[in-house]
Amino acid sequence: AVGLIQRGMGAYQRIEHALSLPAEPSPTRPPPSRTRTRTREPDRRRGHHEGAALALRNLSFGYTADRPVLHSVSFTVPHRRQTALVGRSGAGKSTIFALAARFYEPDSGALLFDGRPSTELSRAACREHIAVVDQSTHVVHGTLRDNITYAAPDATDAEVRRVVELAQLEEVVRRLPGGLSGMLGERGGTLSAGERQRIALARALLARPALLLLDEPTSHLDTINETALTTVMKDAAQECALLVIAHRLSTVQHADQIVVLDNGRTVACGPHEKLLTTSPTYRQLAAGQTLRSADTSPPPVTT
Ligand code: ATP
Repeated sequence: AVGLIQRGMGAYQRIEHALSLPAEPSPTRPPPSRTRTRTREPDRRRGHHEGAALALRNLSFGYTADRPVLHSVSFTVPHRRQTALVGRSGAGKSTIFALAARFYEPDSGALLFDGRPSTELSRAACREHIAVVDQSTHVVHGTLRDNITYAAPDATDAEVRRVVELAQLEEVVRRLPGGLSGMLGERGGTLSAGERQRIALARALLARPALLLLDEPTSHLDTINETALTTVMKDAAQECALLVIAHRLSTVQHADQIVVLDNGRTVACGPHEKLLTTSPTYRQLAAGQTLRSADTSPPPVTT
């Protein structure tokens, strides 16, 4: 469900609450914020670690004891690579994001951040490691700069320019009267859905996360916005580990590896071309183009 990460995170005021979260996770509490709120010095933490930015080892989880959702899921999200997560609706993709963001704790198995088990880290420490961009992109009344920097108000002009470039927002800056100081309307005014998504990405990238979790938009993007988003993802993956819930063929084709989830199980992992020949589940998803069948369609037959 798209709403998993979103629930409880909608209102901007709640971003404030992210700073006063309890140190330990509560299994019932919904996530209050969707982006990290601290800025980190460049390259201080990235690239100096053994292991992947995130590793799932035989991870099992259910929201309730009687209904497991993830069954011994294992995969890694390496530094400076793009990993795509695909699977039908309900396969467990958003649940993996929620576990990575420590909104819930696994029932068994391990979650490792830079090789360190999550059990050794506070929730705050894990959150410092990641940024989450989901499909609910919020643009508030304020300048474009405010919208990019609200979680990092001390960002320098150079840092803002860097993420504007990374997120392919230069055209928006040129178009908007006043550029970065130009006001955006309550709901983003003239911005397209793709542009709003990229503002959210710029905001997340400003925090220089070691791991970026992105739930790719399912809404229709025009070719220009889709190309821009693909470029942003490619560039972001040069900077951090990127894990994308992917809904588009264009995204998975660019991914370094694709993890295929089916009913809460990892059934295949590899690049697009390889999976086309080795994974029937992947082939069916890819044939559906959207990589996620509509909730109402019958489940594909897997072999
Ligand atoms: P989609 O592509 O539709 O977003 P998904 O692959 O992200 O689907 P999840 O949202 O992770 O799938 O859901 C996996 C399973 O867990 C589903 O059966 C769903 O109904 C269930 N689920 C999700 N969130 C909750 C929750 N908060 N409480 C109980 N069950 C939940």
